Amino acid sequence: MQKPSSVVYVWHHEYTKESDSFIPTESRNEMVHSLIESYGLLDKMNVVSPRQATMDDLKAFHSPDYLERLNSSPNDPLASEDDDEYGLGYDCPKKDGIMTYCLRVAGGTTTAAKLLGSGICDVAIHWLGGWHHAKRSNASGYCYVNDCVLGIIVLREKFERVLYIDLDLHHGDGVEEAFAGTGKVATLSLHKYEPGFFPGTGSLVDNGFGKGQNYSINVPLLDGIKDSNYINTFDKIFPTLVENFEPDAILCQCGADGMNEDPMRSFNLTQRSLVHCVKQILKVKLPTLLTGGGGYNSANTARCWASVTAAVASECLSEDVPEHVFFTRYGPHFELSIPEGMRKDLNSEEYLEEVVENVLKTVKKMKSKGL
Ligand SMILES: [Zn+2]
Repeated sequence: MQKPSSVVYVWHHEYTKESDSFIPTESRNEMVHSLIESYGLLDKMNVVSPRQATMDDLKAFHSPDYLERLNSSPNDPLASEDDDEYGLGYDCPKKDGIMTYCLRVAGGTTTAAKLLGSGICDVAIHWLGGWHHAKRSNASGYCYVNDCVLGIIVLREKFERVLYIDLDLHHGDGVEEAFAGTGKVATLSLHKYEPGFFPGTGSLVDNGFGKGQNYSINVPLLDGIKDSNYINTFDKIFPTLVENFEPDAILCQCGADGMNEDPMRSFNLTQRSLVHCVKQILKVKLPTLLTGGGGYNSANTARCWASVTAAVASECLSEDVPEHVFFTRYGPHFELSIPEGMRKDLNSEEYLEEVVENVLKTVKKMKSKGL
């Protein structure tokens, strides 16, 4: 029977366990799910097993030659000759089972998008997704297939205008690039933007092109941003963006690598920022798909996404992490709240005001219901 909250949680035991061997963070996805389960949140949502994507599904965005290369054996020297051209090496090495992993990640996000399109739910969560750096013919930054782009393509079968919001520490370059030439998909990315920091794109003046001019919105932030500045910045932009773009559906990538204590050592955020942004997004009452993304401190990523899940399910969580299989990983304080970092916040009031002012100028040039 459908639960009244109409929240779908896309999850599969085997996919979750397997996915952890393709990300650089020990047991992260298992820890996320276990924490959500231990807080009793699975009883508050409709848990749905995803359909695995097909190669044809991936071809909705990715090029056949890239997929062929991705599908070739990592032990075949002939097939590996120019893997570098496809980004397959360094942080995206080819591994046994990579294609199955990709089909499952993509299948989870597209399953969530289909459920939203069919009206079965209002919100769909897929924490294994959010691999926003992958390009049409390139793997990049731990991302082999861009499930966000594939999810948006599926959403657009039912919804005319889709708003993509990227809360990851890194710029959502793959998604922005995929839709930079259309006014049907608007992208908003809040990210660290400093010389030499991956992926190096996402400046204030990168706003799309052609029919997509002014529909790519970038909010470049500096090291050390804390919750209050992050939340204020989001709140000054998001309502105006919704008013001007008038989306029909939203996909939000909730990367947790901006959390304090992440090995990226960049922002000072706690889960309060992401919970706040997601609550604001839900207030708009549009079909909403939430994915994961970065997050390289497993316990804090689990704390963050369990807190977001609770917010979506309108539940309050106890501050004491429940005893469960990964309990010892939450020491020494065993509490749900991530402490805010103490790094200096380099985002001055003047800097953020200037960024917001410029962003709003671009947002106001969007033609509602146009293009
Ligand atoms: Zn990231």
